[in-house]
Amino acid sequence: MHAIFYRVQILFFCNLAHTTKIMKIIRFKNEISAAIKGFKERGKTIGFVPTMGALHDGHKALVTRCVSENDICIVSIFVNPTQFNNIVDLEKYPRNLERDAEMLEKAGCKLIFAPNPEEIYDSVEMSNQFSFDFNGLDKVMEGKFRPGHFNGVVQIVSKLFSLIQPDKAYFGEKDFQQLAIIHHMVKVLNFKVKIIDCPIVREPSGLALSSRNERLTEAQRKNAVEISKVLIESRNFAPKLSPKELTEWIINKMNTVPDLKVEYYEIVNSKSLQILDSWTEPAVGCIAVFCGEVRLIDNIRYNS
Ligand code: AMP
Repeated sequence: MHAIFYRVQILFFCNLAHTTKIMKIIRFKNEISAAIKGFKERGKTIGFVPTMGALHDGHKALVTRCVSENDICIVSIFVNPTQFNNIVDLEKYPRNLERDAEMLEKAGCKLIFAPNPEEIYDSVEMSNQFSFDFNGLDKVMEGKFRPGHFNGVVQIVSKLFSLIQPDKAYFGEKDFQQLAIIHHMVKVLNFKVKIIDCPIVREPSGLALSSRNERLTEAQRKNAVEISKVLIESRNFAPKLSPKELTEWIINKMNTVPDLKVEYYEIVNSKSLQILDSWTEPAVGCIAVFCGEVRLIDNIRYNS
């Protein structure tokens, strides 16, 4: 891991000698704090995109927007151990800092914050004892099936916000529940940051881009395309079937596709995330589905 960091730093140090495009990778908190202090003193606006790396065009869309709307764009690359409730998932999470850095440089980002876990957490924090009042937002869907996941998310995002002090931070609607929780966190913890919701980026087939897609076989990838197809088809039934009936229809249909096994599908209020029994409120359907061993999520809005 360290060898990769050094290689990338050297790579971009060489760029520095030859061009004016400077890509900097910072690994330490004191260095990023010093950089932020300098930006703030010079009155620069800071945009921030937190990621776990293995970047794809979904991340790129967030970064491109961040670059265009701020003086400085900072991207963090940190596979946050405290938000994984499954150690195999954490170990198998794809990592490729060198490729990520190249992609970010092309997108116009000049500063990456890529710390090691030990730089971010002490041993107590690492055991994810972090607690936070989610006002029920963590009791459904991802929160129900990945206990402790959102504690880890709030733990890392609040740490990064405190460190980077962004004016704007960019998050994808692909992680719909995460986005709702981030909005709630910003309010409760009184962060002075504007959260920018960014739409889901999909392959032409409709499959939502995800770092986890890299782990799909070719056959699984074809079957995974059915996830978005079934979700889109379900819109045709939204007013005729109740949310409960539609939920059953989707789960049954999805489970007939080879390789797919639905973990949950819920139709919820897009703000409170509480399960709906009628279509009178803004509704979003959220799914987690295993494609082989790879867990994928997606969502669709029905009436807003
Ligand atoms: P991750 O690296 O998976 O933690 O994602 C970092 C950010 O990128 C999160 O705000 C995600 O919601 C967002 N993101 C991931 N995939 C997509 C996508 N396909 N479209 C839009 N945003 C995405």
